[in-house]
Amino acid sequence: MVSTCLRWLSITVLIASLCTIELTGQENQDALFIKQIHNQILTEGSCYDWLTHLSEEIGGRLAGSEESEIAVRYTRDVLADYADTSYLQPCTVPYWDRGDEEVVKIINAQGNLTIDIGGLALGNSVGTGPDGIKAEVVEVKTLDDVRSLGIEGINGKIVFYNRPMDPTQIRTFYAYGGAVDQRVNGPAVAAEYGAIGTLVRSMTTVSDDNPHTGVTRYKEGGPQIPAIAISTNDADLLHDMLEKEVVDAFMYTNCRMVDEAKLSYNVVAEIKGSTYPDEIILVGGHMDSWDVGGGAHDDGAGCVHSMQVLETLMALDYQPKRTLRCVLFMNEENGLGGGRAYAEASAAKGEWHMAAIESDAGGFTPRGFSCDANDDIFPGFYRQLLKWNDLLEPYFLGFVKGGSGADISPLKGQNGLLMGFRPDSQRYFDYHHTAIDRISAVNERELKLGAAAITSMVYLLDNYGISKGDE
Ligand SMILES: [Zn+2]
Repeated sequence: MVSTCLRWLSITVLIASLCTIELTGQENQDALFIKQIHNQILTEGSCYDWLTHLSEEIGGRLAGSEESEIAVRYTRDVLADYADTSYLQPCTVPYWDRGDEEVVKIINAQGNLTIDIGGLALGNSVGTGPDGIKAEVVEVKTLDDVRSLGIEGINGKIVFYNRPMDPTQIRTFYAYGGAVDQRVNGPAVAAEYGAIGTLVRSMTTVSDDNPHTGVTRYKEGGPQIPAIAISTNDADLLHDMLEKEVVDAFMYTNCRMVDEAKLSYNVVAEIKGSTYPDEIILVGGHMDSWDVGGGAHDDGAGCVHSMQVLETLMALDYQPKRTLRCVLFMNEENGLGGGRAYAEASAAKGEWHMAAIESDAGGFTPRGFSCDANDDIFPGFYRQLLKWNDLLEPYFLGFVKGGSGADISPLKGQNGLLMGFRPDSQRYFDYHHTAIDRISAVNERELKLGAAAITSMVYLLDNYGISKGDE
């Protein structure tokens, strides 16, 4: 009996000493703190409540709109409680208004079948005028198709861009990147060849009835024609009709550019670094969204992820060594006015952003971070990041090369590390730029795990720094 007790005692001591040995390592202190970050956010984090307010109480926050101004005030008020300083940084944004109605009808050759398919005007589009426009539809897959058809094939017609996002791409952002030129530049190119309007297949991987808006850009001084996105189901319907016969379309929208240069603001909140105040770590998302829906995934999620970093570090009594700055950028969607204004102000002050992390890929389950920097310094940065793989592996987080975020990309010249938060991307384009991008599309736990991933990365960057040399 005694010998059994002694044996158990010695085993207990052995286990305790093993635990002690493990816990003395810096890596285990880091592992413990990263776990505390996750515990704190999963049980006490406010990000989902903030996102509910942004998405449902305030709603879509197109740059220049009243909603965007309300969101600026709301987030600044929240952030003021978690930062040493908070301020509004002026920037110039376009203010485009959708108007009150969009009509798209397709009409068969005999004129005895008219189908009202509806749509969403593309951001920055001009209107059709009060009578709308009606013309024969010509379907194309690419901008080069338009160039090949030339004025003879395009003049006086409505060009229908109908190239789907590539379903075989595992990373859906690559599929988006491979298709989005139709929306961004398609109307301008069609206009050059005399088209009078454009219909664009929605940028999504699903077949459904939701049109997806998004920015289009005209060439400076070039012709401007109205552009409306139609759902993937309606694009397939129109395609099927065009296989059989000549089809006309009717388009109406009274959207318009209200103000090319309106005053707006980025929201900035900062905790000064205790040891290296001149080394800045930025975490941010974009405040503006499209006007339809609530901008929940795009990019309310990125805003509240970033706000959650500050709330969490305060709750855990963590005093950063480096200056930590949360930035909610204005006008990512249709101009990047906020990102440019931030970079210009930063350059004027001679700042160095050691690292900048942007969350603009939704509030889905975190996968890790994409990393970018100038070519000569990137390999050294990346090798340092990979040393943290063991700490991040329990959370299924890793690093990939390439890409960060649109708002922080103008900071690349400062020779720091740029990162994009990368959640699972399979459902992002179900909601992107639609009326259904609302809080109901966001899973609270997934959103919080994303905030915890970003906070963990901020902690590691702050605690260790990252150097241009390969230390
Ligand atoms: Zn976005």
